[in-house]
Amino acid sequence: MRYKKEKKTFKIFTLGCKVNQWESAYIASSLEDMGWKPTSLDAPCTLAIVNTCIVTQKAAHQSRQAIRKMIRENPNAMVVVTGCYAQVYPQELRDIPGVGGVVGNTWKHLIPSLIREGRFTEKSVCLVSPFDKRGALEPLLVRRFMGRTRAYLKIQDGCEAFCSYCIVPKGRGPYRSLEPAHVISMLEALAAEGFREVVLTGIHLGKYGVDLQAPISLVGLLHRIGERRFPLRIRLSSVEPGEVTEELIDLVGSESWLCRHFHIPLQSGDRGILEKMNRNYTPQDYEALIRMIRTRIPLAAIGADVMIGFPGETDMAFRHTYDFVSNIPISYLHVFPFSPRQGTPAAFFPGQVPPHVAKQRGSALRRLGQKKREDFMKSCLGKEFEILVEGWSSRNAGLMQGLTDNYLRVQFSATHCQEGDLITLTLAQHHLVSPVAISDQDTSTKAEMSL
Ligand code: SF4
Repeated sequence: MRYKKEKKTFKIFTLGCKVNQWESAYIASSLEDMGWKPTSLDAPCTLAIVNTCIVTQKAAHQSRQAIRKMIRENPNAMVVVTGCYAQVYPQELRDIPGVGGVVGNTWKHLIPSLIREGRFTEKSVCLVSPFDKRGALEPLLVRRFMGRTRAYLKIQDGCEAFCSYCIVPKGRGPYRSLEPAHVISMLEALAAEGFREVVLTGIHLGKYGVDLQAPISLVGLLHRIGERRFPLRIRLSSVEPGEVTEELIDLVGSESWLCRHFHIPLQSGDRGILEKMNRNYTPQDYEALIRMIRTRIPLAAIGADVMIGFPGETDMAFRHTYDFVSNIPISYLHVFPFSPRQGTPAAFFPGQVPPHVAKQRGSALRRLGQKKREDFMKSCLGKEFEILVEGWSSRNAGLMQGLTDNYLRVQFSATHCQEGDLITLTLAQHHLVSPVAISDQDTSTKAEMSL
């Protein structure tokens, strides 16, 4: 279907991880370059895209709800659904009356050109194909991140770890990385656009480069980036415990352009549960890693994901997790419940935990996480930080807000700065904004699970 200029209006609703959000930003940016105008979610449009997630049952449910709402509220729009749900269960989405196109992750980056070619017609289209292991990631530049001073850059996709609870490998395929030369040219372009912070994202970021013809590690890539002296700082999204190397820690500790922020999934503090999860570390390994970071970079933000209610998590196993988290020097927690996903081994494990028990455990851990966050904030008082100015404070008129390199949201009076500036500030109590909401954590790369 081809659209007249005045009818080229679109909206995108995105669920799930930062990688999904980056991909939506790419589609939006490309559509705008093609003359399409973005509209707000409640305004009419001619093209409506839902970028879905299936990491948990809740995320899948929310995806279906979002699609139905989009169809209901935009009766004259072409509704195209994409993302991990479309990749893994395309037929389920195709069966929803009103869906005009189902596009799997392998085709997602082609959505703008499919629209240009008029491939979406009144007849429903389904474009889903398996992943090609040999393909490196294509360089796709996103110039605009709506309402954001920070840019994201997807440098890696895919996962081959097959944790027993995780459906992601089916939705994202094998490891694929962006060639270092492309990473550099993307950063050049983002710096030229005025971004002063770029978050490097991936589905399994620590495996960056293993699939390239000339393999390179994440640390190797960071060295290449550092040589260029870009006028921006780099933040890493989630990296698995076994992939946070001593070299990486020392690099973050010594280079001011690298944000002192690690997000390292823990999932459980019980050794037996970690084994059943098919995670390849013990609580002792994890603790040694966290202590090494804290010793070498005392002010680093260290976040952890913890899953509660995994099958077989007895009261004792949960107590192990709770005590373990209490005793390690992390700065914040992201707590989420186990969600049985069809097609994963853990969905059939014995010892499923009743929802009310998982809920109580989750509440207890979240309270502990809050305490950890407050303690971390206090430890930063009186120290000087580099702040990225994000704009006017949403809570206090006349103040601006920003983000420290170690992931504290702060507010301050706006004397000599504007949105997008990097400034320095000695942190006092009145600068602290109450903790960044869980949903606002940029390292949370999945709807309910940081990856
Ligand atoms: S939890 Fe992370 S590492 Fe494990 S399979 Fe899922 S995406 Fe891969």
